[in-house]
Amino acid sequence: MVTHPEPRDDKPILVALAGNPNSGKTTIFNALTGSRQHVGNYPGVTVEKKAGVRLHRGVRLDIVDLPGTYSLTAYATDELVARAFVIDEHPDVVVDVLDASNLERHLYLAVQLMELQVPLVLAMNMSDIAAGRGYVFDLEHLSELLGGVPLIPTVGNRGEGIEALLDAAVAVGTDARHERHVPITYGREVDRELDRLAARLEPETARLAPRRPRWVALKLLENDSRIREHVEAECAAATDILAAADAAVNRLRRILGDGPEIVIADRRYGFISGACQETVRSTVESRHTRSDQIDAVSTHPVLGLPIFLGLMYVVFWATFRLGEYPAWGIEMLFQWLGGTVGDLWPAGADSIIRSLLVDGVLHGVGAVLVFLPYILILFLAIAVLEDTGYMARAAFIVDRWMHKIGLHGKSFIPMILGFGCTVPAIMATRVLESRRDRLTTMLILPLMSCSARLPIYVMFTVALFPQRYHAPIYFGLYLLGAAAALVVARLLRSTVLGGESEPFVMELPPYRLPTATSVLLHMWQRGWLYVRKAGTVILVIAIIMWALTSFPSPPEPPGPEVSPEAARQAALAYSVAGRTGRALEPVTEPLGFDWRINTALIGAFAAKEIFVAQMGIVFSLGEEVGAESESLHAALRREYSPLQGMAVMVFCLLGFPCMASLAVMWRESGSWKWVVLQWVMLAAIAYAAALAVYQVGSLLGLG
Ligand code: GDP
Ligand code: MG
Repeated sequence: MVTHPEPRDDKPILVALAGNPNSGKTTIFNALTGSRQHVGNYPGVTVEKKAGVRLHRGVRLDIVDLPGTYSLTAYATDELVARAFVIDEHPDVVVDVLDASNLERHLYLAVQLMELQVPLVLAMNMSDIAAGRGYVFDLEHLSELLGGVPLIPTVGNRGEGIEALLDAAVAVGTDARHERHVPITYGREVDRELDRLAARLEPETARLAPRRPRWVALKLLENDSRIREHVEAECAAATDILAAADAAVNRLRRILGDGPEIVIADRRYGFISGACQETVRSTVESRHTRSDQIDAVSTHPVLGLPIFLGLMYVVFWATFRLGEYPAWGIEMLFQWLGGTVGDLWPAGADSIIRSLLVDGVLHGVGAVLVFLPYILILFLAIAVLEDTGYMARAAFIVDRWMHKIGLHGKSFIPMILGFGCTVPAIMATRVLESRRDRLTTMLILPLMSCSARLPIYVMFTVALFPQRYHAPIYFGLYLLGAAAALVVARLLRSTVLGGESEPFVMELPPYRLPTATSVLLHMWQRGWLYVRKAGTVILVIAIIMWALTSFPSPPEPPGPEVSPEAARQAALAYSVAGRTGRALEPVTEPLGFDWRINTALIGAFAAKEIFVAQMGIVFSLGEEVGAESESLHAALRREYSPLQGMAVMVFCLLGFPCMASLAVMWRESGSWKWVVLQWVMLAAIAYAAALAVYQVGSLLGLG
């Protein structure tokens, strides 16, 4: 069906990848470009557009992955991003990725792209699932009905149909004469007004370009605010045109009884439904699919939430049980390295370089890397839950509760991403249409416990609590964070950010067996991020923390009456970190924190991982040079009570968004005032909560 064109020149073809969320867009993008983007089986993962390059039969294709959108209206940021790209960057070809097992719904965006008259190729992705459900497509006929647009069946995760898709993209993208008629009509009345309005816009063609007059007319009838603004700003006869559009809208409303935008949307759906009726056949009665049967249990109104919480508990439990052994191995490795490097210097010798390497680098960064196995296991589990489609069900279950609290259902996705890292989670709030919803979500996101806080929890729980408490403590902390997020959201919604939430329909993608590659890739990306951060940012800050904890040295050497142990502690106390930590003790003493924890908390403000790094450094510096190294766990057990550990964990959970997340918060909220509000609010909550834990615990005699 597709011929291979000879490339005319060396100009690269700009390909824009569009599609509904969860249609497999990112998977196709990865198959096309060989790049590795985050793939997740729930709507809304791709918020920013990403770009990649592919060479195909001597032609270079520059491929851009647009945010997943259901439509191209002016209401949602991601839809506007996609629309602006398709209009203003005039890609040579737009590839719209459809879920063939859910064709009718996915064609809605395709129809809107056809209206825009962009060069279009449709990828019928998930064709394996469609076939499994017994759907049979008459692709040739369907393509005809859609005005001749190429339809390429693909199975993104197995790379099937990618070559054909590239062929079609190159064919359409290099066809300079490309011009297709829009096959859809909107009914006699609307069409007549459309023609009239388009005729009025005709003289303005150059000023509207690359928007076509007929498309602009359609958008004016749909009352598209962006297009109205555009006409107002660009057109010579703007006042006349807008008045004519308003008159047309009023006439149509009188005749049709509904706003033209509703009628136009209905005609699109009708067109699609008709086209599918003619060209899609189902060989089985597919209403009761396996997915539906599983959903009957997993999204059950009563059982759904306990099932979700139970699954999460299993995830946390597994993280702890399985992470322990490799973590122990890594700890042994770093102890051995510390010993080996330390032995390069003569016993008892006092060397700054030795201290930098052993106390700062190996014990600081080592303390961070020990937790890599926990991170890997947690993200492996989350990747599996995402890729099977379960996370979308979780969103569905939680949606009802979120609404009661005044959070938008779409907030769930950023909140789940927040378990990884607050920074991308804040970016992901772009899927929220209303600014109030967005701000509320951004403000509470740091309460979703990010993976950089995990080492703090693990360090204290493993050191201070018996094993049977590990998973419950860990699970409890995550729950506490999420509960605090919901309470704070409720408070924000009833005070500074009051107002109605917009309605939202949660989409449930079918369950799928995740592929090993996708799941492992996901885990690896997370793990690599952690390792890279440990080797760069954390390394640098750890060295700074080491210097602050080592210098200045006391002016006079200790007298013979002072024991070496007391002298080391005096030196620690004399350092910048020691003095700062002690200066803060009056404030943090009621929480049960000592000066060491205070310095670690200051470091944690730069990056959460620094907390464990600094604990490693402080205890390593406090040790006798060349002595048999005591494990950090043993040191913690000696110095702190379980209650103190609990207070620190609660404080770290609730307080102190790190610098990177504050910076993104500033950029995305547009004002430093929100950043200050967030910081002060969370610091106050954390202080109060840690105070309550420590004081009540002490009263009960738990200390
Ligand atoms: P996006 O939201 O459109 O970017 O969708 P993703 O690329 O993140 O894909 C969502 C899920 O669908 C992932 O679990 C993919 O592995 C899976 N997937 C993608 N394409 C196909 C396909 O053709 N067949 C099947 N069975 N699964 C697919
Ligand atoms: Mg995606």
